[in-house]
Amino acid sequence: MDNALRTPGGRRLRCAPVITRLSHLFLRTLRDDPADAEVPSHKLLVRAGYVRRVAPGVYSWLPLGLKVLRKIEGVVREEMNAIGAQEISLPALLPRDPYETTNRWTEYGDGLFRLQDRKGGDYLLGPTHEELFALTVKGEYSSYKDLPVTLYQIQTKYRDEERPRAGILRGREFIMKDSYSFDLDEDGLKRSYNAHREAYQRIFDRLGVRYVIVAATSGAMGGSASEEFLADSPVGEDTYVICRESGYAANVEAVVTPAPEAQPIEGKPDAVVHDTPGTPTIATLVEWANAAGIGEQYGRPVTAADTLKNVMVKLRHPDGKTEIVGIGIPGDREVDDKRLGASVEPAEVELITEADFAANPFLVKGYIGPKALQENGIRYLVDPRVVGGTSWITGADIEGKHVVGLVAGRDFTPDGTIEAAEVRDGDPSPDGRGTLVSARGIEIGHIFQLGYKYTDAFEVDVLGENGKPVRLIMGSYGVGVSRMVAVVAEQQHDEKGLRWPAEIAPFDVHVVIANKDEAARAGAEDVVSGLHAHGLDVLFDDRTASPGVKFKDAELLGMPWVLVIGRGWAEGKVELRNRFTGEAEEIPAASAVETVVAKIRG
Ligand code: ATP
Ligand code: MG
Repeated sequence: MDNALRTPGGRRLRCAPVITRLSHLFLRTLRDDPADAEVPSHKLLVRAGYVRRVAPGVYSWLPLGLKVLRKIEGVVREEMNAIGAQEISLPALLPRDPYETTNRWTEYGDGLFRLQDRKGGDYLLGPTHEELFALTVKGEYSSYKDLPVTLYQIQTKYRDEERPRAGILRGREFIMKDSYSFDLDEDGLKRSYNAHREAYQRIFDRLGVRYVIVAATSGAMGGSASEEFLADSPVGEDTYVICRESGYAANVEAVVTPAPEAQPIEGKPDAVVHDTPGTPTIATLVEWANAAGIGEQYGRPVTAADTLKNVMVKLRHPDGKTEIVGIGIPGDREVDDKRLGASVEPAEVELITEADFAANPFLVKGYIGPKALQENGIRYLVDPRVVGGTSWITGADIEGKHVVGLVAGRDFTPDGTIEAAEVRDGDPSPDGRGTLVSARGIEIGHIFQLGYKYTDAFEVDVLGENGKPVRLIMGSYGVGVSRMVAVVAEQQHDEKGLRWPAEIAPFDVHVVIANKDEAARAGAEDVVSGLHAHGLDVLFDDRTASPGVKFKDAELLGMPWVLVIGRGWAEGKVELRNRFTGEAEEIPAASAVETVVAKIRG
């Protein structure tokens, strides 16, 4: 007798795959792309019946989609367990209190789903769980001997995203693997961080994803060192830059502009106000400067980079207060909204309105200069290139007037610097070892060395070896599990449909019967049983539909192998198609099962 589990009656219990018949599968494929879909993965996952939209950013998983999702979860779980992380599951419905303690109830802003119970108690739907993990460890552990520990969950998260997008790529309800490490000291944190970094590499390699690891900003999490895993994709919302010479790579939000050396102020010509009628834009200003011979001071023509553009933005702080801030950047660059947004977090950038200008008459549109801002108590932040001693052509705060030769550190003193200007291809790498080029990606994972932000907030201490309390140091690490389904679809599809890597395909093989003949049908049943007996997960298209319809569906659904039992059956031949390479080969029907098993088991 084998040692399989059995019921008391002797029936064999096993969790082996079953044969799934398309005639019974809860599936409708669609001929047309959904009207709201822009990116290929969204179109295909809906057309192939993997997911269905319920509300903006809220999706149902149908059988095929759920199988892929579960397999991705499985890969993530295995690799997390392999680094010694322990799985737990916290509620998604959370009380306000802990998030009040860390101020994230407010700081998280509009992204947080807040709700009340019948008694008027405040709750939220967890967007990420640092608070609860810190409290959970505090509740259970009290001695240094228990540390380090890493806990994780694979759980539903809620974020009221401003722009839910591309189906499950950016959902308002989505599944994340989030883990949290707790260590006694910084070296321990670094070890936990590196263990995650390596686990993530293994996860994404197993999933067959092309990705880069880039330096990141830490956003609403707080903390210091952090890196993102970005999947290569033209539809990605993240822009990253890499320096091919040095290997430096960073999310564009995290690029630190190399500041030039400060220049001596002595000897710089005085600032002079000029009449510059009709020059409200940088282009018109440069044209005026060259016509007026300003370039002679420079020994070359004036360019947009010699001008200082002052952009007014309105910030909404977490406490609800708004603030108008002036940002000075070299005139040859635009403000990059994402870099600006990341720089001012947790404040949010709002559109500045005509009413704001009306309320601050010293802001002369097209001619704003540092002087009026500073005289009127408006914070003035500048690009890191605006170092002491640099001389600028900028607004004179009077309609139709600009000032030439305004020197930083002499004629104006900024309140600080800000990373808000766009990063461009060809810019110097922050490590000084080459130039930057940019590409787009989708964030699939994020690892943070959080530090003490949360353990300080909740006083998560254990008794140390010397009897004194030790505050734990924390890391937090996320993988977008549901997003991964879309990311793989995005990277692997072709014009005909989805194309799943074997590790996460809903089925190992898709058998299509394309022959009405009774003998062929019976033969197909035998082949399917044979594949099943070898432990393969088989999708069997036993429908009476035309071969053309079935082939199209097979391409759309995207199993890695398609076995066609068609006209060749009478001559003892079947066709094996590889969905990845598109290659098809005729193989003997008699040994079809063994051939397919060998290909799949490789
Ligand atoms: P993004 O910049 O894409 O909004 P994030 O930086 O807010 O992501 P984290 O808080 O770092 O995301 O969450 C960890 C992981 O969860 C991300 O790397 C991403 O893969 C996934 N994720 C985040 N937001 C969503 C979402 N709205 N839908 C699906 N997956 C998401
Ligand atoms: Mg992130």
